Amino acid sequence: MARGLREAVAELAPAMREDLERLVRIPSVAFDGFDPAQVRRSAEATADILGSAGLGGVRLIELPGDHPAVFGQVDGPAGSPTVLLYAHHDVQPSGPEELWDTPPFEPIEKDGRLFGRGAADDKSGIVIHAAVLRAFEGRPPVTVKVIVEGEEEASTENLPNLVRGNRELLEADVIVVADSGNWRTGEPTLTTTLRGVVDCVVEVRTMELPVHSGMYGGAAPDALMALIRMLATLQDERGSVAVAGLTSAPWHGVAYPEDAFRTEAGLLPGVELVGEGPLSERLWTKPSINVIGIDAPAVHGSRNILVDRARARISLRIPPGEDPKRALDLLTAHLEAAAPWGARVQVTRGNPAKGFAAPTEGPAHRAARAALAEAYGREVVEMGSGGSIPLVPALTETFPEAELLLLGAMDDRSNIHAQNESVDLAELGRATLGQALMLERLAAGG
Ligand SMILES: [Zn+2]
Repeated sequence: MARGLREAVAELAPAMREDLERLVRIPSVAFDGFDPAQVRRSAEATADILGSAGLGGVRLIELPGDHPAVFGQVDGPAGSPTVLLYAHHDVQPSGPEELWDTPPFEPIEKDGRLFGRGAADDKSGIVIHAAVLRAFEGRPPVTVKVIVEGEEEASTENLPNLVRGNRELLEADVIVVADSGNWRTGEPTLTTTLRGVVDCVVEVRTMELPVHSGMYGGAAPDALMALIRMLATLQDERGSVAVAGLTSAPWHGVAYPEDAFRTEAGLLPGVELVGEGPLSERLWTKPSINVIGIDAPAVHGSRNILVDRARARISLRIPPGEDPKRALDLLTAHLEAAAPWGARVQVTRGNPAKGFAAPTEGPAHRAARAALAEAYGREVVEMGSGGSIPLVPALTETFPEAELLLLGAMDDRSNIHAQNESVDLAELGRATLGQALMLERLAAGG
């Protein structure tokens, strides 16, 4: 059967590419200010592709005030496990088009890679799920449910409702989140940890109003200097997070080489890395903290005054096991304690998102490791993700018994969220074969 699947997937290459090109042409940006009709179009195209691949009962799930998700199901043999396949059909905005080498919503192939916004993140996931169904000619060896949602990039508020509100519909033994990918092209990878993230806005006030810096400067503290001193305490001299009480965890998977990281991050020559310990730990299982916005007078038009108020948004990435509410409490306490000169401090808390650490010894992980190794012809490695996928904690909280796998066809050159996003078309085939072989193994009991 494995030989048959390999051939079936190879024959599907043109259909997969056609599906992907069709989806990439739809600018399904779910952010405010973009045309929501395009997101609906991509939901409809997704439904059409999955339906023609053999998924049954395909329908749009309408979410009040939100973009539609797509759901369908095809039953496997009696007694077989249920596998929920996830992807998202919305995409990041293209950003400035002049930074792209090719038009962002026009799929174009170069050197075996298909370029276009969403080609990797995450329309590749939809194409893989459809191709897996096609490889089994619509009769998979397990019960397959597919959920493709339409606001992953734009908002995190409604996702938990989608999951909790459709508990019976989505219930499964194994959940495959195809919104990740491979460490390097051709190296099969399971993403086993995600960091969480919290943020807050800190506002500092020192005076009733701005005043003349010549008359009062030297004795009256300005709010911007006070804020800068507070922000500077968030990291120590080496750039490690200095908020007391935050946890971190060791990392056991792939080691991130420093020279590759420098190139991928686009660091200027001579600029040092911050933090301490193995790079993989710093990026995946330790906290990191950054100032992501400041409100203060702009340089253009600035005057000789003492600034009376200033504020900043702080983003704190937290390790997989950290409680986001606790982390925000610690950050808030740190900021309040760091305020110099009796400055007034107000901290407004943002939305907390939990991280994720997969238990990797279950039958689905065993099946995935064996299947991916067979499809790619090499051993599976484990990597972490410094970013978060808000849906994942929502799924694990709602379905604590289910085993969750994070994988996909993205690779180190996919440039997701940035200009010139792309996916390797051969990787798309290998990822599909891996997922199909995994379903066979799950049907056979792991
Ligand atoms: Zn994504």
